[in-house]
This record gives sequence, structure tokens and C-alpha cells, in this order.
Amino acid sequence: MLPFSKLSFWERSIYTDGIDFTIIGAGIVGMSTALHLRKANPSAKIIILERGYLPTGASTKNAGFACFGSPTELKDDFAKMKKHAVWETVAMRLEGLTELFSLVDPTSIQYEACGSWDIIREDEDTLTPDFLAYLNEKLFEISGETSVYSEDKTKILDAGFHGVKTAYHNRLEGAIHTGKLIEELHRSCTNEGIHFLFGVEVVSFESFDSGVEIHTSMGPLQSAKLMVCTNAFAKDYLDDIQAARAQVLVTKPIANLAVKGTFHMESGYYYFRNVGNRILFGGGRNLDFAGETSTEFETTLVIQEKLKQYLHELILPNTPLEIDYSWSGIMAVGSEKKPIIQKTNKNIAFGVRMGGMGVAIGASVGKQLSKIFS
Ligand SMILES: Cc1cc2nc3c(=O)[nH]c(=O)nc-3n(C[C@H](O)[C@H](O)[C@H](O)COP(=O)(O)OP(=O)(O)OC[C@H]3O[C@@H](n4cnc5c(N)ncnc54)[C@H](O)[C@@H]3O)c2cc1C
Repeated sequence: MLPFSKLSFWERSIYTDGIDFTIIGAGIVGMSTALHLRKANPSAKIIILERGYLPTGASTKNAGFACFGSPTELKDDFAKMKKHAVWETVAMRLEGLTELFSLVDPTSIQYEACGSWDIIREDEDTLTPDFLAYLNEKLFEISGETSVYSEDKTKILDAGFHGVKTAYHNRLEGAIHTGKLIEELHRSCTNEGIHFLFGVEVVSFESFDSGVEIHTSMGPLQSAKLMVCTNAFAKDYLDDIQAARAQVLVTKPIANLAVKGTFHMESGYYYFRNVGNRILFGGGRNLDFAGETSTEFETTLVIQEKLKQYLHELILPNTPLEIDYSWSGIMAVGSEKKPIIQKTNKNIAFGVRMGGMGVAIGASVGKQLSKIFS
């Protein structure tokens, strides 16, 4: 591919001269940041640099749960974090979903307000009614919504799960089409005159009084401001970011599939949903936390076999099915389950570390990041 130094006058005038804002990363956060920057800066030149021919991190790989906290996930969070920090993150996820639907029309991304169910196997502890009541009380304080969580055993029977004793319903969660979300964000950015340079990898950057020099695989670029939205791939620049790979599989279409909606298991470490008449099933990072710090887009036998076992024994017992294919994506986690939105000097800022929450939280992080220099 041609280096920037060989671009024509026309190409330079549109893409590389006089850049006001450069964003690294065309994921949910990068594109949301760009759209919010455009609202406040109608004539600014905004460029998104993306190393892949498609976004190549988590935003095109995820399970498409529009979620803000299943009961067992929240219980796990309370064991690791202070209560107020857990609720701050839940509030941010809820706000983020509202923000997301202000950027994209929910119908255009096939949003389904299908609810979610947190399923409890027969060998697991159930939650106490007091704990569910506490969750509902806090959710009411945050959102004004009543009875968000409730126990629902009928769903287990309807879906035909095996070895499951109960389920906790969250009536406000839902599902989206992940590919359509990225397509819609891309379309909106393009309509707003935000330019993409795909296939350009940022190698390093330096801040000067006058702006930022960005060194890329296609040569240097100058920009007044730089926003880094590379999630796990920001770990070389900031402390407390660790890559967390997540693996997924999808079945071939299944006749008369009774499993409808989004489902969580084991504190959110496993998740599955129907996509039409297929099941998409992911998780299992807790089987090999160390191995899953890899940034390689690979799948592993140990995790894929566990997913298959749950699929055959618990989710669809006695149903003939075939796995169509598997994939992985790379998330970012840290000591706190909270994004980092941080200015590191007067010209450079980061919006990274979305954990497994980026669908909900990404648009809100983009909004906050877009205001960081004002
Ligand atoms: C399998 C899986 C399932 C998930 N399920 C859900 C879910 O159901 N619900 C939910 O809310 N969240 C889920 N997540 C998490 C969610 O996808 C992420 O939190 C979110 O996509 C992060 O968005 P982002 O824009 O911060 O990062 P990314 O989507 O990772 O985008 C970062 C971009 O930066 C680019 N980049 C990196 N380095 C460079 C460089 N040097 N130069 C140029 N470009 C660079 C990458 O190619 C990438 O496109 C899941 C994640 C995975 C992997």
C-alpha cells in the first residue's frame, strides 16, 4: 500500500492535511467518540485510523447483549469491588444504552427487548429473596424502574434446559445485531463527513506544543488532538489494562428452536442467545484466565469443548445439532470493572478498558471522551 508521502494533492486535502481530531480504533468507542465530536465541532476534520480492513478487536466479535448486570454477575462484583463502584458501573451501562439509542435507531440494529435470564444449575446456590429485593431497590433508585429482577422458573421449562433449577429474569435487557450496530455507526460517521483510513496501524505518537505527531505503518501524520480508542491494545501505554480474550461458537440452524432470548450463567462467565434459529454461545474464560490474556484471535480446545458440553447437556439436551464455526475477540479488563477515560497530556486522551460491557457502555464513554479537551 502507498505511504502517505506519495498521496496526491486531492487525497492529502481530504484525508491528511489539517487534521483536528484523530481517533485510533474504529470500534464502538472510536466511532461514538467521532460522532459526539462532530456534534460539538461541525467543521472539524475528524479522521479514524483503523489497523484492520474491518475493526479488529471486540466490537464486531461480541455476543450482542444489551446488558447492564445479571444477578449472579452483580453478586460476584460485590465480592470484588466496593458497592458504590458496582452501582456506578451499572448506572453507566444503563445511561450508555440510552446514549447508544440516541446515536443509532434501535430498529436499524435489530434491537429486541427480549429480556435476559440468569440460569442457576442444580449444583449451584440460589440467591436469597432479600438479595433480589436489594437489587430491585437499587435499580429503582438508579432508573426509576420497578421490579427489574424476578425469579422465573417457567422459562427453564419452556426452553427445555436440563440440570437447571431456577432462573432470574431481568426484564430490561435485550439483544442487538452486532454487525448492524457497527455498520450503522460507520454509516452515520460517513454521513457526518468523518473519514476512515482502514489498514493503517499506529506504531507510536508524541505530543508537542502544536499538536501530536502520529507514527503509522503508512508514515507520519500530524493532528491537533489524538483520542486513543484501542481498548485492550492500549495496554502498552497505560497501566492496569489486561487483554481478555473471549471465545464464541454458533450452531447451524436448529429446527423448532425453543430457546429464545438472552441468557447468562456462572456470574456472566457464560452467555448464550438465539440468533434466529441458531444458538450463539460464548464464555469459559474462567477455565484458563492466564491463557486467555492472549491477543491472538484463536480458539482453544479446552474452552470450545466446555461450550459444546454445556450446549449438548444443558442448553439443548436431546436436540440434534451441529456447530457451524467458532471465533474469538479481544476485550480489556483491569483491577476495576470500569472504563478508563483519561487525558494523558493537553493533546492526547484515552477511552479504553470496556470489559464485557462495551455494547452498553461504549457510546457513553465516547460522549465523555469527546468532551475531554473542552
Ligand atoms: C466474544 C465477545 C463477546 C462479547 N459480548 C458482549 C456483549 O454481549 N455485550 C457487551 O456489552 N459487550 C460484549 N463484549 C465486549 C464488547 O465487545 C467490548 O467491550 C467493546 O466492543 C469494546 O469496544 P472498543 O471500541 O473499546 O474496542 P474494540 O472494538 O476492540 O476496538 C478497538 C479497535 O482499535 C483497533 N486498533 C488497535 N490497535 C490499533 C493500532 N495500533 N492502530 C490502529 N488501530 C488499532 C482495533 O483493530 C480495533 O478495531 C464482548 C466481547 C467479546 C470479544
